[in-house]
Amino acid sequence: MSSPPTRTVLITGANRGLGLETARQLAGQGFHVVITARDVGAARQAAGALAGPAASVAPLPVPLDVGDPGSIAAAADHLRATAASVDVLVNNAGVSLDGFDAGIARRTLDTNFFGPLRLTEALLPLIPAGGTIVMVSSGMGELAGLDERLRARFTDPALTRGALAELMNAFVADVAAGRHRERGWPSSAYRISKVGLNALVRVWAPELADRRIIVNAVCPGWVRTDMGGRTASRSVEKGAASIVWGATRHGEPTGGFFRDGRRIDW
Ligand code: NAP
Repeated sequence: MSSPPTRTVLITGANRGLGLETARQLAGQGFHVVITARDVGAARQAAGALAGPAASVAPLPVPLDVGDPGSIAAAADHLRATAASVDVLVNNAGVSLDGFDAGIARRTLDTNFFGPLRLTEALLPLIPAGGTIVMVSSGMGELAGLDERLRARFTDPALTRGALAELMNAFVADVAAGRHRERGWPSSAYRISKVGLNALVRVWAPELADRRIIVNAVCPGWVRTDMGGRTASRSVEKGAASIVWGATRHGEPTGGFFRDGRRIDW
């Protein structure tokens, strides 16, 4: 009996934290792992640490800053020239920046929302039928507690990817104009970036289903990484396992939000 073909997984922000641990776990399960990171030196070190007899890690990490459209285009060109396919895409890279102003809002959305959107669009030609896309989101992206007017806009069944991107840009514009509170936005760019990511999954899932590609959002829980801090309740192994669950789905489910393999509220 022949063994199933090796699946290739590409992970963003794979040089440390949850991205690195997700890479380690998937390599251990026999995936061919493509490490990407904005700092290539750090990525090389990460790839070297993962390389082992049971692991299949691409020897050369791919430089990728998801907040930079030029970097996304260069990575996509490189992958088109070198990789047969990207069976699984894990959009893990993210930031939670200190402070709150229009600049912070812009940078947060560029990394946490527009990064996954642009990278997924750029790599779609390399994702085959049967492919899997995971958006690493957060329970902070729940709609509960959001202003009713905004909730209605994020859950509008007629929402498109373009309209969602406009809504996210409106958040930044409202922060810049000092009117975000009166428009119902919270003073947290991180939260809105993940609300947007969850909405993106719902908007995109039916469209991708036509190509037999699934897309889900996953929450790793509150994890002891540089972002989560030392007092977080979960180990990086446990948090990454929640991401790995999403990355190892095949064919179904799609359009959902999950933690530890269980559906959670948007
Ligand atoms: P982390 O330890 O701070 O690591 C973040 C990773 O993202 C790093 O590899 C970082 O690379 C990378 N990154 C940041 N901006 C990037 C960019 N523009 N382009 C490419 N890579 C970039 O955070 P983490 O806890 O592992 O978080 C990973 C994901 O889980 C994030 O999406 C986060 O929102 C989500 N999450 C985390 C928690 C938690 O409690 N930790 C909870 C819910 C959700 P550099 O080394 O270059 O900075």
